[in-house]
Amino acid sequence: MEPKIILMLYIVLFVLEYLWERFLGIINMRYVLSRGELIPDFVQGIITPEEYRKSIKYTLTKEKFGIIANTASSIFLLLLILSGFLGFMDSLISGFKFDRYTYGVIYILFIVLIFRLFALPFSLYGQFSIEERFGFNKMTLGLFFVDLLKSLVLSAILFIPLLYLLFFFMDKAGNFWWFYAFGIFTLVQFFIMFLYPTVIAPLFNKFTPLEEGTLRDRIFTLAEKLGFRTKGIYKMDGSRRSGHSNAYFTGIGKSKRIVLYDTLIDSLKEEELVAVLAHEIGHEKKHHIKKELVLSLIGSLAGFFIISLLLQFPPFFKAFGFTGPSFHAVLILLMFCSGPFTFFIKPVFSILSRKYEYEADRFAVTSTDAAESLKSALISLHKNNSGNLTPHPLYSFYYYSHPTLAERVRAIENVTQ
Ligand SMILES: [Zn+2]
Repeated sequence: MEPKIILMLYIVLFVLEYLWERFLGIINMRYVLSRGELIPDFVQGIITPEEYRKSIKYTLTKEKFGIIANTASSIFLLLLILSGFLGFMDSLISGFKFDRYTYGVIYILFIVLIFRLFALPFSLYGQFSIEERFGFNKMTLGLFFVDLLKSLVLSAILFIPLLYLLFFFMDKAGNFWWFYAFGIFTLVQFFIMFLYPTVIAPLFNKFTPLEEGTLRDRIFTLAEKLGFRTKGIYKMDGSRRSGHSNAYFTGIGKSKRIVLYDTLIDSLKEEELVAVLAHEIGHEKKHHIKKELVLSLIGSLAGFFIISLLLQFPPFFKAFGFTGPSFHAVLILLMFCSGPFTFFIKPVFSILSRKYEYEADRFAVTSTDAAESLKSALISLHKNNSGNLTPHPLYSFYYYSHPTLAERVRAIENVTQ
């Protein structure tokens, strides 16, 4: 296949993805607006007209900004590809006297940095203009840049050695290098998952074991009743950065824990928090975390295999401006240019994730009979986050990792009926 045809195919898919996602954004905005001031039935009397108006405005503001940001980054990416910049930088850096591995690592760092820099003004605007306007931003500009610096240093520490290792295997391990590379990649992934709760996350937030009191007692009673063993349930100072609230499950093996944002603890009643915990425990009890891990392992094995095939196909590299195949080029193409080849399988993952959310809700309701508390917790959470109460069905089908609030409330009611 000619490089030109590959590039044409890429651009067609690129435009299709762009138009499809903008189309979804626009129908979503029109759908939200079409209801006017009409508050959905299931939150009548719970959400005030003012809160409802705020959620609409927040949704529209974010969606409009998303269209602008996405258009800008799409044009930027296309320009980099069509101008031959990716290949040009590759030949430029290869002029310096580095060993092969170092040269690949420098190339990847350089391209990643360019994309990060381009995205910076957009994330600044999102945080300090949009989030600020709706009362969610609790960050200072200083903290924003300290975070950025920390995450850059951390990524360098974690990923530069990994890149060297991958290059080494690719170079020395023969035909089945992709299988060994997958092994190394998986080990590093497990290592990061293990370190995340105890070493990585504490670099950004403070985690304190839940203080003694009725909430802690109720949660531990619940955990015991559900046969859930964990090192702990922690409170995180989410309010340092944002007014949004959340709860999540993290870690593997001994580092496993449940984290509650302080903003969540402050805004929910005790029985609602217990219901949220039961939902999180549901994810563990139903093996969702393990299943997702297996799926991501299969995904990365397939990814490495595809890389090994692509490396034997020079026209693919020429299409994107490179002189020929190389491991660093294929990694960069995978990182930044694979979207148009994969966007149509996105809903598969959101469907699966939503299935798990329904299962965790059902677990919480049937094992603790916390239906009413879970319902009011979800509504409260949604209200405090100014979440969209009426997304377009096609939009939520494509993007949402969780069912919509209306769908979740309906499903909880169906369990108890
Ligand atoms: Zn969940």
